[in-house]
Order: sequence, then C-alpha cells, then structure tokens
Amino acid sequence: MSQGFSTRAIHAGYDPDPLTGAVNVPIYASSTFAQDGVGGLRGGFEYARTGNPTRRALEANIAALEGGTFGRAFASGMAATDALLRATLRPGDHLVIPNDAYGGTFRLIDKVFTQWGIDYSVAPITDADAVRAAITDKTKLVWIETPTNPLLNVGDIAVLAEIAHGAGAKLVVDNTFASPYLQQPLALGADVVLHSTTKYLGGHSDVVGGALVTDDEQLDVDIAFLQNGAGAVPGPFDGYLTMRGIKTLAVRMDRHSDNAERVVEFLSGHSKIEKVLYPGLPDHPGHDVAAKQMARYGGMVSVLVAGGLEAAQDFCARTEVFTLAESLGGIESLIEHPGAMTHASTAGSLLEVPDNLVRLSVGIEDIDDILGDLEKALH
Ligand SMILES: *Cc1c(COP(=O)(O)O)cnc(C)c1O
Repeated sequence: MSQGFSTRAIHAGYDPDPLTGAVNVPIYASSTFAQDGVGGLRGGFEYARTGNPTRRALEANIAALEGGTFGRAFASGMAATDALLRATLRPGDHLVIPNDAYGGTFRLIDKVFTQWGIDYSVAPITDADAVRAAITDKTKLVWIETPTNPLLNVGDIAVLAEIAHGAGAKLVVDNTFASPYLQQPLALGADVVLHSTTKYLGGHSDVVGGALVTDDEQLDVDIAFLQNGAGAVPGPFDGYLTMRGIKTLAVRMDRHSDNAERVVEFLSGHSKIEKVLYPGLPDHPGHDVAAKQMARYGGMVSVLVAGGLEAAQDFCARTEVFTLAESLGGIESLIEHPGAMTHASTAGSLLEVPDNLVRLSVGIEDIDDILGDLEKALH
C-alpha cells in the first residue's frame, strides 16, 4: 500500500543523507562526479546533464505524486513539452491539440514542429466525438490540458484515453492547472503527464521548471535520451526549490481551492462580470466530469468582464492584492489579460481567446483582502 499524498510529497525521492543526516536534499552543485577507476561510478552519477542527485530526488518525488514509475525534470514546462514532442513524433506524424491549449504549447507546435513535417489539428477537448473526428491514420498523440488554460474547459481523461488508444495514439495530459493533488491522469489511462513545475508544484513564483511522468518504460527511455542528448535540464538549485515547494502542495492546494470558491461566489453575483468560468460551478459544462476526476476544482478562475476589452484591461490594472503578471500557481494572487499577455500568440488563430477574458490565479492570502481587492477594482 503506497503512502498518502502529503507523506509522499514530503518524503518521496529522498532519505536523510547517510553521511551527514541532512534532512533536506542537498543542493549538489557539482557538474561532474569522481570515478573509482574508469567507469567506477559511486552513486550512478557521472556528469550533471545526464544526472544530478538533487534532480534525481525531484524526479522520483514527482513520479510518486503522480502515481507513476518514471519521472524526468526539465528546465521549463516548454522544455519538457519540446522533449516529449520529439520523443514521440517523426516527420509525417500528426497530433491533436485542444482548441484552447496553453499559448506556448500551440506556438511551439505551430511555429516549430510544423517546419519538421509534423501536422496538427485542433479540437475542443470537451467534445469526445470532435476529438475522435480530428484523429487521422497519422495521429500519434492526443494532447490535452484539463482544466484548460485559460478557459477552464474540462476533458474526460478516461474517455479520451480510450479514444486515443483505439487509434493507436498516446494520450498526454498537461496536469499543470490541477496539480497531482487534485488529479492523477495516469490512473485514468493517460500515457504521460506533463507539468510546468513553475506553477503549483514549485508554488512560490521563484523557479521555472518542467516535468514528465510515465509508466511506459520505452517512452521514458526515449525521453531520458533527449533529456541528456539535448540537455534542457534544471540546475540543482532549481531542483531544490521545486522540492521545497512540493512539500506544502497539499495544504496550498486546499487553501487555493477554498479561496477560489469564495472568489467565484463573489464574482458570480457581480454586475460588472458577464460570466464566471470555474469547473466547480454546477452550471459549468464540465462540472460532472471534473467532479468525477478531480478532488477539488483548484485555484484558477477566469471571467468574462462586462463592457469588453477596455473594461477587462481596466479591471486588471486596478487590483492591488492581485499583482498584474503572467504565470500562476504561486502563493500570491495574480491577475492577467490572456488576449494581450499569455495567449497573445493565439491571435487570429482557431485558439484566439475572448478579448474581455481575465484570468485570476487566486493565491493563499487572507480571503477578506482578496475579496476586498476585487470589490474595489470592479467599482
Ligand atoms: C506555464 C504553462 C506551460 C509552460 O511551462 P513553462 O514552465 O512556462 O515553460 C505549459 N502548460 C501550461 C498549462 C502552463 O500553464
């Protein structure tokens, strides 16, 4: 029987150092490792691009949180995305991506991978039939995020895994928004889970990183080859910061969810807000699926602001507790305008976002300060 989530978050991947008893994983600031005779590696490490003990501890920890066998850490979520695409696709192959994918994911596929003979189709992940229809005989990957960034749409992981597998393709789930505390895609049939650890896993807006977790041994071999061969690895200090963040993931996610629920309640009744997008709302189209596959609904809330683009950007500029900034998942509340910021690269494409959309990453500050700030900014 495996340990509970919080126990794994705090302990998996590292036992106190037998030499010193250090309770926390040391920051192994060493690019190379001494050998006892040629090929005589002491701890299995030879060169830090290939492997570093701090990074190795982080990788084992994230794998344990996702209930997976193999974990690989990268220098950013996009580096993990890039490695996964190259590990799984060859010229002539095709993949399906969400019609509201993370802007950077879309940009990398649309601007770079198409140049190397990779073709893609977009489909709403909320609609299993549309995803099935987008699959061709060349499809090797079905790539989803759930909930999606920034529209918070929900895809049914178990159903989409079945559809992908039926076509001989793998299902990738970008689990950045939910975090493994709220959703564990491998248990639902996904082949590989991707994280921008920059967000909830790191959790303190002080480090950029990415990770891939899979149970598929051959896929892990291919990912590890690119991790070493192309070298987009995180440094040991990044690995340490990410592990430090992960230790409190469970308590943070509960507080993020508590605060987001209060924000949703407040904004839902507000005259300056046209619509609140949150999977926890009973009238959200993905609510039933989210209730089935998520423990709670998380800290991300998006809204359509009444009055269009200008009113939306004005709202973003007037908050004080919410910092106007890109990114998400940290302890501090952030607000942003996806159309002009994180998702500007989707303008004019099928993935373009509404111009009155505002995305909130609800932090873990005192709820009265969060609500007071929103009230003032919408006045
Ligand atoms: C931020 C983000 C990424 C990219 O990760 P980086 O760490 O910024 O490279 C990928 N997917 C989602 C859903 C994200 O929010």
